[in-house]
Amino acid sequence: MDKGEQQAEAIKRAALEMGADVVGIARARDWEAFVPEGYRPYDLLPEASSVVVVGARGPTAGAWRSPNPRVMEVLGLDFANDRAIAALTGHIESEYGHYAIQAPGLSVAGHQPPFSYMLAAVLAGLGTRSFAANIVLNPRYGLLYYSACITTLELPADPRLEQDVCPHPMCVQTYRHTGKTPCIAVCDSNDGGCLDGTIDEDGHIESVYYDRERCTSRAMNFGPVAFQKVLAQVVSEEDAARQESIIHSDFFARASSGVSFYKESVAQCFECMRVCPIGRQERKLK
Ligand code: SF4
Ligand code: SF4
Repeated sequence: MDKGEQQAEAIKRAALEMGADVVGIARARDWEAFVPEGYRPYDLLPEASSVVVVGARGPTAGAWRSPNPRVMEVLGLDFANDRAIAALTGHIESEYGHYAIQAPGLSVAGHQPPFSYMLAAVLAGLGTRSFAANIVLNPRYGLLYYSACITTLELPADPRLEQDVCPHPMCVQTYRHTGKTPCIAVCDSNDGGCLDGTIDEDGHIESVYYDRERCTSRAMNFGPVAFQKVLAQVVSEEDAARQESIIHSDFFARASSGVSFYKESVAQCFECMRVCPIGRQERKLK
């Protein structure tokens, strides 16, 4: 093992000890083929050479099993991937003497973050995009939450996955019989939902349709976005009684609370992931 490989191994071990379920490394220059200038690792950190990506499970197996879907919504996850990457970023600077930053994956304008964790996860060999809202599925865990650290430390990169994780063979069979995969069936764009797509003769994704705006309005009503939405509703309401009832509604209370405790609500819809067979095995406990 050469020095770079040893460093990569040690960094991956540290990331797992810090709470990540999976960790992979990508080359900073690989972004060039996928995103425009301004969104590449070296646009965010000069001389960036590597991107270390961690993924962690969000809701526990028990939360997925709860018959009350709101349990998933309000678990208030202090995301393990964020904790791990914050610790790992400092660790790389102190242990290896190289610059490191947490990649900025939160949106700064609309739904557009300066850095895509989804692309990072794919380039680091941790998963591939799926029919379900383009979510990057990991072959072992399915849905994971990703974070990344950009560093000037040169590390050997992991290969990308050779096989697409989605569609699962079971979904291909379902599609052959019904014309829909399980995720498309629960959120069909032809029936008021957000998803559609086709599978080719070899069982691979042929085309994908995802209505992000519709999904966001249903699944992402938390934090500042929800507060802005409900505040606009309150100030434009002319009926005083109705205005008061909005202010005292559960949604307004949650949106106000979410401004302070941003992570107390994770998302409001997990239905496309609930029916997905990828990662289900990992959620089977006693
Ligand atoms: S999160 Fe919900 S609304 Fe969004 S694509 Fe999945 S099932 Fe549809
Ligand atoms: S249910 Fe999961 S594996 Fe199957 S098509 Fe949808 S995202 Fe892919």
